[in-house]
Amino acid sequence: MEKYQNFVGIKVRNNSLLNKQIIDKIQGFHSMSITIEIDYSRCTGCKKCVETCDYGTLEWFEEQPIVANPISCSYCLKCTLNCPVNAITVKK
Ligand code: SF4
Ligand code: SF4
Repeated sequence: MEKYQNFVGIKVRNNSLLNKQIIDKIQGFHSMSITIEIDYSRCTGCKKCVETCDYGTLEWFEEQPIVANPISCSYCLKCTLNCPVNAITVKK
């Protein structure tokens, strides 16, 4: 339980039923966490991943894509499907 106490800014003070429900929700959310990796040695800078991401997860920064908001990722996989050189990996 300890590791979830400050997750996404929610603080849990005691073991009341309400807090248990909150913890269950957070744990469920946490178990769905998504990892996005960009292999910059492959990336050609075509920007297609950023243009196809509808959730603001990827942003363009200093001529390359970055994972700016990983928590917003919907796991739609559009970025991986649209990357011509398979430089993006998205895992649950
Ligand atoms: S999987 Fe979908 S939401 Fe997540 S970064 Fe790729 S395009 Fe964006
Ligand atoms: S789609 Fe692939 S090659 Fe194009 S900018 Fe994104 S990661 Fe780089």
